[in-house]
Amino acid sequence: MQYVSTRGNAPARRFSEILLEGLAPDGGLYVPESFPKVDLAFLRNLSYADLASAILSKFVDDIPDLENIAQKTYQARVFGSADITPLKTLEPGLHLLALSNGPTLAFKDIALQLLGNLFEFVLSKNKQAMNILGATSGDTGTAAEYAMRGKKGIRVFMLSPHGRMSPFQRAQMYSLQDANIHNLAVKGTFDDCQDLVKKVNADAAFKAKYRIGAVNSINWARVAAQVVYYFKGYFAATRTNSEKVSFAVPTGNFGNIYAGHVARSMGLPVRRLILATNENNVLEEFFAAGKYRVRKKARETSSPSMDISKASNFERYLFDLVGRDGARVKELLRRLDADGEFDLASSAFYRKVPDTGFVAGKSSHSDRLATIKQVFSRYETMIDPHTADGVRVGLQYREPGVPLVCLETALPVKFAQTIRAALGRDPERPAEFVGLEKRPQRCELIEPDADFLKRYIEKKST
Ligand SMILES: *Cc1c(COP(=O)(O)O)cnc(C)c1O
Repeated sequence: MQYVSTRGNAPARRFSEILLEGLAPDGGLYVPESFPKVDLAFLRNLSYADLASAILSKFVDDIPDLENIAQKTYQARVFGSADITPLKTLEPGLHLLALSNGPTLAFKDIALQLLGNLFEFVLSKNKQAMNILGATSGDTGTAAEYAMRGKKGIRVFMLSPHGRMSPFQRAQMYSLQDANIHNLAVKGTFDDCQDLVKKVNADAAFKAKYRIGAVNSINWARVAAQVVYYFKGYFAATRTNSEKVSFAVPTGNFGNIYAGHVARSMGLPVRRLILATNENNVLEEFFAAGKYRVRKKARETSSPSMDISKASNFERYLFDLVGRDGARVKELLRRLDADGEFDLASSAFYRKVPDTGFVAGKSSHSDRLATIKQVFSRYETMIDPHTADGVRVGLQYREPGVPLVCLETALPVKFAQTIRAALGRDPERPAEFVGLEKRPQRCELIEPDADFLKRYIEKKST
């Protein structure tokens, strides 16, 4: 399998070559040169780890240990059950696909746990080490740290905005005591943290010398890992491979739902991908009207992991939409840079929703609270604010006779304040997290100063 850039002007690469990298040299994102097809009958009864191994092997053909890595990653011990992503049926035809029973209680564990094991394998084979530098407002950084803790050849430097994460998220990150994990609380906002990462990466000599890498949402291996649970959810919600299923997906950077698009392109019988945004509705606007208009700044909402001003993985979908023509993608992004928007509504490429197989809707704070309440009273099931956005929009587009699978992307315990606002009580807490906030915490408080950060990385890398 070869990977090509969405902007059409970079050499084709193999999987293990793009694994540790961010953008392609032409500024685009790597995608497979074509989508491999699968045999549903063969996949239907496989365990999660075997399913992962079968699907990933279509994308990864140059890592001989892939099967062992998949077995090591997708264990009941790590994800709480042998199903890894169990399907919970709320009523006939309406399901939650539980993606958030990994170590940090958010769906990002599913991809990042795999990434940690892939990184360790490739680095040790090449006798290399790397420093992962990232910025987080919550879920991603936490999932990255739990995936990379104790891994040979990997150090993590994670920036977070001082005093702005939920107490639970802060405790999750800062209570890690592994020597290769460095938590840096920045006196500033999440944007300041991202700026620092950009500044360090802009110093090419420093970046090369200290092998600075990332685990951001544009990493292809993350997308590939997420394709697997669409298959798992489909098989759990149907009896035969002739049925179609719709998926409702709470969306931020378009990583999760793009994996659904890939699954469908590989032959999974998906009827609709139902895209749910929060008040930051850049993507809802695009799928409803064809206009992609980025915002200057994301709004802070009560589903914070979906607070985006532009969607970093969207470029991959755009590439498919315009007929896999890198020059066209480049031209659209040039317009986006110049005008802050582009409009495909009158273009031949923009086929009117729902012909594209996508529908989209937006959920607000009050929708979120009402949905948490409704699901709790009707089904005695507590859902988190992000999942609630997905359920809310999913129910709007539910069709009789078509099973609806809503992706559960985090557990409610991570967002206690919103749960209390919705239900007037505290969220349920899994036993291993009781007392989490009382564990000793470890983090360094720093000024938003790139030179200081570079010296810090230097000192810890010797
Ligand atoms: C990251 C995240 C999302 C959004 O996923 P994308 O891949 O960015 O679309 C939704 N819910 C939760 C809980 C998340 O952590």
